[in-house]
Amino acid sequence: MAEQDLRVVVLGAGMAGILAGIKLLERGYRDINIYEKADRVGGTWRENTYPGLTCDVPSHHYTYSFERNPDWTRHLPPGAEIQGYFERTTEKYGLNEVIRFNEEASSAEWRDGRWHLGFHSGREDVADVLIAATGVLHKPRFPDIKGADSFEGHLFHSARWDHSVPLEGKRIGVIGNGSTGVQIISALAGKVAKLEHYQRTAQWIMPVENGYFSEEERAAFRDPAVLEEVMDVKGYMEAVEQYTQAITDSDSPGSQHMAAACLQNLEESVTDPELRERLRPDHAPLCKRLIFSPDYYQAIQHPDSELVDSGIECIEPEGIRTRDGQLHELDIIVFATGFHPDCFMRPMAISGRNGASLDKLWQERPLAYLAVSMPDFPNLFMLNGPSGPVGNFSLIDIAENQWGYIEQLMERIRSGECPEIAPTMQAMQDYEAARVEAAKQTVWFKGGCNSWYLDKDGIPSSWPWNYQRFVQEMAAPKWEAFGLSAAVAANT
Ligand code: NAP
Repeated sequence: MAEQDLRVVVLGAGMAGILAGIKLLERGYRDINIYEKADRVGGTWRENTYPGLTCDVPSHHYTYSFERNPDWTRHLPPGAEIQGYFERTTEKYGLNEVIRFNEEASSAEWRDGRWHLGFHSGREDVADVLIAATGVLHKPRFPDIKGADSFEGHLFHSARWDHSVPLEGKRIGVIGNGSTGVQIISALAGKVAKLEHYQRTAQWIMPVENGYFSEEERAAFRDPAVLEEVMDVKGYMEAVEQYTQAITDSDSPGSQHMAAACLQNLEESVTDPELRERLRPDHAPLCKRLIFSPDYYQAIQHPDSELVDSGIECIEPEGIRTRDGQLHELDIIVFATGFHPDCFMRPMAISGRNGASLDKLWQERPLAYLAVSMPDFPNLFMLNGPSGPVGNFSLIDIAENQWGYIEQLMERIRSGECPEIAPTMQAMQDYEAARVEAAKQTVWFKGGCNSWYLDKDGIPSSWPWNYQRFVQEMAAPKWEAFGLSAAVAANT
């Protein structure tokens, strides 16, 4: 069959969109465009610029497998360095030629065997294949706290940090103690007049080293063999496997090991017994995303820091009033209150075969067969889509595995053998039923906590099996799930 010159459109130039662009060029796709709503690449690393922004994945693992970076300055990569890495990589692989910046897609309609795209700018485009690389945690969640509008100081979300507001000498309240809130507190402790951390639920906090690499070490990392050794890929993958096993089995040795390390951290780091009890979590470890921090406990014990866990009553013009009646006067309030995790490509309007609507398919919860594709939405493939693995490991690795799978689907379209690829409704329903059943066995469901992993019905929305199973599923599509014969696939 003749090879088709497919037109491929990628939405988003964050980590996943850049990956897609590089891989498409590498595989000889030439008719491609990446649309990016902002004026720069980087996705989450462009949008988040708060003080202390760090990725808690070891630096050398937080890169594409084909583009290692010997230049990280620290064991955990600082946000600005990650942004620099993505910008350099984009440049190096010639992607700036194919990225259209400041173009936010508003609609996609499957019509006459192609995707017809609309943009807020009025631009239109068509594509044979549409790759949604639009990210997961990109829509800030603003808490519903009475009186927030009345605050006379500065108030902003952690993902919209207002750098025009000086911090020195200021009284700052940070609401939320997820990974973000903890990193902000660690960065600001001792550097501002007063720092209050508003905690609703105490967190499990895993100690971690975050030292600097010396110039000599970084020079040595230029030798791939040295870098490979320092990365200890095998050891890292074992840790990822141990982590995912701990999610599915809270009695596993890995889970117990992590709980013991966190408790030891709490016991040894927090000297005041009363404060220690207020920081002690009351739910199972890993129920919420585990927090890695070298210095949060030190930061919260700084004389100018205060843990506030008496509950927020409301926000008033002068500050935050807690449920015990106390008014905490503040100059700046930061909402480190997380994101809406169920948006993905939305608010785009997406309609598929025979007028199928994405909003309707996702009425109950966002879903996709193996987190990648959906029935009635042919040739639309997602990176880091709903029910994909999200955890304390590199999403870059997850996206690379997903790309390997998508590439195999696309090759069947390109070969001309099969112009439309979408999973059958049965395949997706079977997958989703098994996934929900497995999700109910995870610590996210059984661990006695609330978290962004849970959908509105309290079902964890992430990959509920171990890492190995994910890798195996991504290695080779089960063609019958797409209504295709495996025998023909073998000939392509
Ligand atoms: P998050 O984990 O969703 O945490 C939100 C925090 O806000 C929680 O502490 C929550 O309290 C609190 N909160 C929400 N509404 C509140 C209200 N009305 N009153 C008081 N407290 C309220 O958000 P995040 O910290 O931004 O992190 C989100 C995700 O981003 C992470 O899980 C991770 O995947 C990613 N992230 C990663 C890194 C990294 O190092 N790799 C760094 C930052 C973020 P409750 O716990 O009581 O609900």
